[in-house]
Amino acid sequence: MNKAYRKAVIAGNWKMNKTPREAAALIEEMKPLVCNAGCDVVLCVPYVDIAAAVETAKGSNIKIGAENVHFKASGAYTGEVSAQMLVESGVEYVVIGHSERRTYFGETDQTVNLRTLAALEAGLTAIVCVGETLEQRELGYTETLLKYQTKMALTNVKPEQLKNVIIAYEPVWAIGTGVTATADQADEGNGYVRAAVAEAYGEAAAKALTVQYGGSMNAGNAAELLAKENVDGGLIGGASLKAPDFAAIVDAASK
Ligand code: PEP
Repeated sequence: MNKAYRKAVIAGNWKMNKTPREAAALIEEMKPLVCNAGCDVVLCVPYVDIAAAVETAKGSNIKIGAENVHFKASGAYTGEVSAQMLVESGVEYVVIGHSERRTYFGETDQTVNLRTLAALEAGLTAIVCVGETLEQRELGYTETLLKYQTKMALTNVKPEQLKNVIIAYEPVWAIGTGVTATADQADEGNGYVRAAVAEAYGEAAAKALTVQYGGSMNAGNAAELLAKENVDGGLIGGASLKAPDFAAIVDAASK
């Protein structure tokens, strides 16, 4: 495996935070702080912030993502947003299967797969989240579960579409809790994801895949996590809401 072979991607996940006006202000603050990044920089924002975020990020190295996408192209799905709608709005990335959606909104491995297929078909880059609960970890199921979730999410994804897939390993017990996985745990979890991709698509595909770690990554712990062989970037919740903290993580990924 060769880490230098892969693209590092630092992506913020704003969750249900920031109004359009606040989004524009935060991106203005971030632009000069991340303009020399040696990694890809993405901000995944609430749907209603997309127009302001795309406009504000124009001409900068910040790419805009959404936090979910529906799997149908159009139709009677009140409240939902299609992949093509996102593309036409200037969105390039989309988070799929975040643990908060799995926990609170009935997301399943099947719907994660359908959303991934729809996103890829539309030309979006899918940031697919996988991760075990504390109970699953304590029962010794982490490897089995991460491999299962990864393979399920990628069912019917064509090998040539993998270049537009990022997998984010996010242990559920580390998201928004302030409890970060150790660098070794992150490396191991990301390694299981990569191994699943190797089993399904071969070693070369696995070697090229960007696998992020997410779960209470912050300015203080990012460098240690990102130094690990299998950690190619981060999906950042809380720390992506503060420009200096997010910029410090981008810096850590740029070294
Ligand atoms: C996330 O929302 O994906 C996340 C990792 O959140 P936090 O960084 O706040 O733990």
